[in-house]
Amino acid sequence: MNHLRPIKQLPTHEVENMPPYIGNQDLWKGDKNLRDAVNREGAAWAEKKLSDFGQLMGSTEMFDHAEKANKNPPELKAFDQYGNRINYIDYHPSYHHLLRAAINNEVPSFAWKHNKEGSQVAHMALTYMFNQVEGGVMCPMAMTYSVIPALRHNQQLEDQWLPKVLSNQYDDRDIPIDQKVGATIGMFMTEKQGGSDVRANSTRAKPVSSNVGNGSDYLLTGHKYFCSAPMCDAFLVLANTDVGLSCFLVPRWMPNGERNSFFIQRLKEKLGNKSNASSEIELDDTFGTMIGEEGKGIKTILDMVIGNRIYCAVSSASLMRQAIVQVQHHVSHRSAFQRRLIDQPLMRNVIADMVLESEAALNLSLRVARAVDNQNSNEDERSFARISTAISKYWITKRAPYLVFEALECHGGPGYIEESIMPRLYREAPLNSIWEGSGNVMCLDVLRALQRDKNALPSLFRELASAKGSNKNFDESFSHLKETLQDPIDLEIEARLLTEKMACLIQASIFIKSGEEEKISAFCNSRLGPRWSGAFGTLPTDTSFEYIMGGI
Ligand SMILES: Cc1cc2nc3c(=O)[nH]c(=O)nc-3n(C[C@H](O)[C@H](O)[C@H](O)COP(=O)(O)OP(=O)(O)OC[C@H]3O[C@@H](n4cnc5c(N)ncnc54)[C@H](O)[C@@H]3O)c2cc1C
Repeated sequence: MNHLRPIKQLPTHEVENMPPYIGNQDLWKGDKNLRDAVNREGAAWAEKKLSDFGQLMGSTEMFDHAEKANKNPPELKAFDQYGNRINYIDYHPSYHHLLRAAINNEVPSFAWKHNKEGSQVAHMALTYMFNQVEGGVMCPMAMTYSVIPALRHNQQLEDQWLPKVLSNQYDDRDIPIDQKVGATIGMFMTEKQGGSDVRANSTRAKPVSSNVGNGSDYLLTGHKYFCSAPMCDAFLVLANTDVGLSCFLVPRWMPNGERNSFFIQRLKEKLGNKSNASSEIELDDTFGTMIGEEGKGIKTILDMVIGNRIYCAVSSASLMRQAIVQVQHHVSHRSAFQRRLIDQPLMRNVIADMVLESEAALNLSLRVARAVDNQNSNEDERSFARISTAISKYWITKRAPYLVFEALECHGGPGYIEESIMPRLYREAPLNSIWEGSGNVMCLDVLRALQRDKNALPSLFRELASAKGSNKNFDESFSHLKETLQDPIDLEIEARLLTEKMACLIQASIFIKSGEEEKISAFCNSRLGPRWSGAFGTLPTDTSFEYIMGGI
C-alpha cells in the first residue's frame, strides 16, 4: 500500500518534510557490514546465493506480504463442519508465500546441504536477511534447521525424515509424511508448571509394546502450553517414562495412515509474532517414537535448542539492522529546527551508537556460526561455540528491544503508527529473549558451560587475547573479567554482568581484528569504558560519527 504514489497536494495543505516511501531494499548489496562479516567468517563462496536472496527478500513485494501475514493472523479450525477434529490452522496466503520463499531458497536447509566450511555462516546470513522482513515464518524455519542434529539420534527416523526436511519444496498439505515432498518439524517442551525448568514436565509416555527405548513406539498423555507452528509435520516432544524424561518424535499422521490424536486447544493471542501460530495442545494417547536414549530427553532435545538459540541471536541482530535502515531513511529526509535530523549532533550520536550496536550484534552472531562450522574439527572452536551461543543469545536478544525502541523514537510520531513497520519490529523484538531460554537462564547456562567444559574459559580467553594490545579499555576490561572469574563467590548473582562483559569483549575483539580504528575506539571507549550508561547516544565526543554512520 505504501508504495502507491501519494497525492501531495491536499485541499488545505501540501504534504512536505515527510520522507518518501522507502521502496525496494537490497539486503545484501546495501549492507557492507554483512558482506564483510560473511567474508571474514569464511562464507565468501556463498556470495551469489546471498546476493540473489538479498535482492529478492528486500523487495517491496516481500515486505507487503509480511505486513499482510501479520495483519491477518492464523486461525484455528479445530473441527470440520461435521464435527470431525481436524486441527487445521488457516494461514493467510501471504504467510504461505513467505514460507515457500524461505524453503525454496534453502533458509532452513542450506547449512546441512552445503556441508563445508562457512556453510553455517552463510545459513545465518540467509536468516539475517529473511528475518528483517518477517519474524513469524522464521519460527518453523529455525526449528526445521535445528532439528537435524537431534534427528541423528535415531537412524530410522533420520532416514525417514531427513530427505523431507532438507527438501527445498514447500508442501503445506496436511497428509502423511510418506506422501509429502517436503516437511517442517516443531518442538513441544513447555508445560504450564514449567518452561525453563523442563524437568517439571508431567506428560507421561507408555510403550505400545514390550519394546522400549530409542526407536520404540509410545503413547503420550499430557499437555503442552506453548506449541508454535503447530501445522508442522512432526514435533520433538518431551515426556516421562519410568526411566525419566525422554524425547519423542510425534508425527501429525501415524504410520498406519490415520491422523494422530493430539488436540490443538487454542491459539494464543500474542504481543507480536502475529503471523506465526502458537498454540496449547492436549496429548491423549498420542503416538510418538522415542528418539535418543531413554531418560536423556533433555540432552537429545538440547541439540535442537542450541540451533534455535543461535537463530534467536542472529534474528535479533536482524531486527536491529532493519530498524536502523528505517531510521536512517527517516532522519535523512526529515528536518526539524532548520536542519535535517541526521545532521543534528545529538541525533548523529544516537544513530552512530545504534549502528555500532547492530554491527557488533551481527559480527558476534556470525563468529558463533563459524565456531559451529568448525566445531567438529577443532576442540577450541567446539568449546567456544558452546559458551558463545549462550553469551550471544543473552546479550544480542537483550539489546534488540531497546535498540528498536530507540529507532522507533527517532521517527517521532510516525514510528508509533501501524502503517509503519516500526510497531511490528518493536513487538517482535522481546520474543527472542524469552523463548529458547530466557535472559537469566542463558546467563546461568554460561556458568554451566564454564563448569562443565574445562576448555570453555581457555577458549574464550584465547579468543580475546588475540585482540590484546591495541585499546586500553579493552585490555583493562579483559583483565578485570579474568580477576572476577578467579573468585567464584557470587558468580550466580553477577552472571548478567559477566555475560554482558564477555559479549562486549568478543564484539570488541572482532572490531579490533578487523582493524577499523574509528569503530574500535567508539566501541571500546563506550561499552568497555568507565562512563558507559547503556543508553544509545552516549558515544564520546571524539567519535567519528560520519564514518560509523557510513556503514548504514
Ligand atoms: C510466543 C512464544 C512461543 C513459544 N513457543 C514454544 C514452542 O514452540 N515450544 C516450546 O516448548 N516452548 C515454546 N515457548 C515457551 C518458551 O520457551 C518459555 O516461555 C520460556 O522457556 C520460559 O519458560 P516459562 O514461560 O515457563 O517461564 P519461567 O520458566 O517461569 O521463567 C520466568 C522467568 O524466570 C526466570 N528464571 C527461571 N529460572 C531461573 C533461575 N534459576 N534463576 C533466575 N531466574 C530464573 C526466567 O529467565 C524468566 O525470566 C514459547 C513462548 C512464547 C512466548
